[in-house]
Amino acid sequence: MIDKNLVSSVVAEVLQKLRENGVNPTGMPTGACSAVPAQTQFGVYEKMEDAIDAAQRSYKMLCKQGVAARRKAVACIRRLAVENAEPWGKMEFEETKIGKLAHKIEKLRSCIPVVPGVEYLDRTAFSGDAGLTVIDNTPWGVIGAITPSTHSVPTLSGNAINMIAAGNAVVFNTHPGACRIAAHAIRAYNEAIYKEIGIPDLLACVKKPTLESFDAMCKSPLVRLLCVTGGGAVVKAAMNSGKRAICGGPGNPPVIVDETADLAKAARDILAGAAFDNNLLCCGEKEVFVVESVADQLLAEFDKLKCVRLTREQMDAVVRECFLPYDGKGYPHPKKEFVGKDAAVIAKAIGLSVPADTEMLFGETDADHQLVQGEQMMPVMPIVRVPCWKAAIKAALQAEHGFRHTSVMHSKNVDRLTEMAQRCDTTLFVKNGPSTAGLGLGGEGFLSFTIATPTGEGVTTPMTFTRSRRCVMVEALNLY
Ligand code: NAD
Repeated sequence: MIDKNLVSSVVAEVLQKLRENGVNPTGMPTGACSAVPAQTQFGVYEKMEDAIDAAQRSYKMLCKQGVAARRKAVACIRRLAVENAEPWGKMEFEETKIGKLAHKIEKLRSCIPVVPGVEYLDRTAFSGDAGLTVIDNTPWGVIGAITPSTHSVPTLSGNAINMIAAGNAVVFNTHPGACRIAAHAIRAYNEAIYKEIGIPDLLACVKKPTLESFDAMCKSPLVRLLCVTGGGAVVKAAMNSGKRAICGGPGNPPVIVDETADLAKAARDILAGAAFDNNLLCCGEKEVFVVESVADQLLAEFDKLKCVRLTREQMDAVVRECFLPYDGKGYPHPKKEFVGKDAAVIAKAIGLSVPADTEMLFGETDADHQLVQGEQMMPVMPIVRVPCWKAAIKAALQAEHGFRHTSVMHSKNVDRLTEMAQRCDTTLFVKNGPSTAGLGLGGEGFLSFTIATPTGEGVTTPMTFTRSRRCVMVEALNLY
């Protein structure tokens, strides 16, 4: 008597083993698979353990297929992000209800193609009397990544490009408020990658991310490195996990404007960075310190833009209505329901009606105002008068809270710019431009939505997700 269940489980196991070894059981050449592997859910799983196992199997397959396969996978992600910028941008906007639709689309269409891939990998060799040593940058394996609500698909896409280019697979614990679109994009990326190179789960996630799934990710021995993009709580949790964690943490980027600056340009640049996606960018301008002698002129320049000036009382009202009660411990925080909302929505909350296309509210406050000290993530810009540029640097450093994230200065005086560059100690320091120039958007350089601040890796690249390994041949293979 043949046990049918036993036969089918043996067949399934054999097929799986073949796939794990890079052999396509359909008989078609690897790289052109059409049959769907039995076990795969193309990256979207109920349980974190299953997501990690799937990512691990795909990591092994990627190892066998080499750098050419990584390049193809990265190309799939870049292509799909552009092709789907509009529908995915819309889905993310509808799910999260924060930011601006046009900017959600722009982040996928214009930003993801310039995230560095395989071309960014480096290696070093030493040749001499003692032989030949090669230092190469190799994958970790499966990386556990935590993504924010503020840029769900952009962050996971950028992480995916960086991490796969370096030869890894990734398992994501996405933000619960942006997990549907994240899972949708992960599945689409995997299906495209599978068609191209026959690997189904280089990106994996759980359908419903929770603190428990985060915990399972941190505890899994298969997850060898963590990458966090989020606020202070998750950075702390990842750092306490006992695993190495690359963390993009919170910021509160100050802007200094001195009396030598081009004030019209400074106002335009501040608006461009701060109003992008309704101030959701972690590197976006959050408060301005302007030298007293040009403060009125700077305020007048904002009046000429799509901005509405608030009185001091109205700036206080924004805090009353849109911030959580603050007891002086830690830093002030906005209420979730106002994060990333349009300027008109915030104005309405304080009983003010402004044109629907208002890009930013702005107004004068003191330096200790909650809008200055808290990471507001709303298009409301507090402007603080300071007596001189030295006082501006002092106040800016205080407001940045040592996050070492981003700061901006508008000045034509090189000595002052140099002093700020040295003292601010931020990961990004942008001179005479919008904060977004620090991500290569209108400034030189490359882009990633993970700016590793407390752990010091900076704007992440494929090299961030490699292990440096040295291979030494003694007294042979040297070239001279
Ligand atoms: P968030 O901190 O609320 O969430 C980020 C992620 O962490 C989510 O996936 C969330 O589910 C998870 N999380 C939160 N608390 C956790 C905990 N205690 N344990 C485990 N997981 C936890 O942030 P958000 O509102 O989605 O994003 C905004 C914050 O992220 C801002 O502070 C912003 O500055 C920061 N951010 C930083 C970068 C960077 O690259 N440095 C980029 C984007 C956003």
